[in-house]
Amino acid sequence: MKAAVFHGTRDVRVEDVNKPYTRKGEVVLEVLASNMCGTDLKTYQRGHPLIKEGTVMGHEYAGIVVDSMNPKFKKGDRVVGSNSAPCMKCYLCRKGSYSLCPEIKKTLVGFTVNGSHAEMICVPSNIAERNMYTFRSSKPEHIACAEPLASVIHGISKLDLKGDETVAIIGAGAIGLMFLQVLKTLGARVIVANRSEGRLEIASKLGADLLLKVQEDNTEKEIRNATEGMGADIVIEAVGKKETWERSLGAAREGGKVLLFGGCARGTFVSFEAEMVHYGERQLIGSFHHEPESFKKAVELIERGKVKMENIVDRKIRLDEISEGFRMMEEREALKVSINP
Ligand SMILES: [Zn+2]
Ligand SMILES: [Zn+2]
Repeated sequence: MKAAVFHGTRDVRVEDVNKPYTRKGEVVLEVLASNMCGTDLKTYQRGHPLIKEGTVMGHEYAGIVVDSMNPKFKKGDRVVGSNSAPCMKCYLCRKGSYSLCPEIKKTLVGFTVNGSHAEMICVPSNIAERNMYTFRSSKPEHIACAEPLASVIHGISKLDLKGDETVAIIGAGAIGLMFLQVLKTLGARVIVANRSEGRLEIASKLGADLLLKVQEDNTEKEIRNATEGMGADIVIEAVGKKETWERSLGAAREGGKVLLFGGCARGTFVSFEAEMVHYGERQLIGSFHHEPESFKKAVELIERGKVKMENIVDRKIRLDEISEGFRMMEEREALKVSINP
């Protein structure tokens, strides 16, 4: 079968590889949709500490079961799976920090086991067991967004929202636009700040209450101006750059929360004035990955049409066009590229 194999930075080749087969608890899918994301792009540009040469990339997927050695799934089921599953036994799992389970790394789809940018994928038994669902009504390329949406839901779960907050999202990429939609279902007033007019237009279609076209250096000022000079109750950093991490503190009001969601390059250090956190009582909240509960919710929200992916998945390509997919993402021509193998 054909698969997109990682060989090194800027070297991902579509080549013939052996078809996967099932062992106990595993499920093999014919891939219906495999979406590309910022993590794929970063892996392509600068590698990833977990990926080895020869691994098939891709971790946001939906497919149809062609072979199952797991009693939960049978041939013909249309399913959406996560890219990982926590062990439920280690110290962090016992403390409820499932997203940080170190065991996740052993079967991380598209990094330490072969991924979904391929005609077929073998879903590891722990994922099939705890983090995969059948779906009915959604298009495969939309339900395949359940994985990044699960991370968004996990981030929001840390905010203890009451529903009367003003939330400013910095960044209107696929992730920022998912945050926007989930926050609207929870009753928040949502401000979206971004440089690109086109992306703000999409944010407007998806229910943003206020759009701010910002340059990098006036983001804080614009958000303050839009919030009676106070700063937003909650600021979500959905860019993943040192500068925006630092600016998000200044965009939050005193006593507000800052969700630092965007992943920066390894070795990035950020700095801010201690006063912002001490006298200003701003709470800094980190968020990474997702847990089974948030993945389940993500699948439900897409299936029930509460979070729409039509405007987010804006390009569809064939597997052998994957280099073009990386180019479109790199040049910000696409929000999210879906591969139909
Ligand atoms: Zn991803
Ligand atoms: Zn664990």
